Amino acid sequence: MAIRIIRTEGDPILRKISRTVDKIDDRIITLLDDMKETMYDAEGAGLAAPQVGVLRRVIVIDIGEGPIELINPEIIFEEGIQCGNEGCLSFPGVTGEVERPNIVRVKGLDREGKEIILEGKELLARAFCHEVDHLNGILFIDKVKEE
Ligand code: ZN
Repeated sequence: MAIRIIRTEGDPILRKISRTVDKIDDRIITLLDDMKETMYDAEGAGLAAPQVGVLRRVIVIDIGEGPIELINPEIIFEEGIQCGNEGCLSFPGVTGEVERPNIVRVKGLDREGKEIILEGKELLARAFCHEVDHLNGILFIDKVKEE
């Protein structure tokens, strides 16, 4: 495993659309492992592959309840609304109020290629939305509510 460099504000890769993973090979497994290590090293709650310079649809999340890995994640259900403070490892020191659904369900693949559906509420729902946005070149600063 290795810690990768986190791309920050102004890096054009953060605005690009990530490609679907069609084969979970050793490179994807290494990417997942490296992303987790990088996230823990930076003390973040989530990381998306474009943040380490890889335009593939891969995310990792840990809101303090253990690691979640998802390949090709898709939000298939959302309900309610929450408003809370959000930050991003690509924007050190920046936070802002962002509105998100309160509950989401996400469909994706685990590292064995098995389809899984996860439900997240509150902070976890926020993390799913934030990381999936990254795969579409959308950043939380785009959604920060004006004062
Ligand atoms: Zn982020």
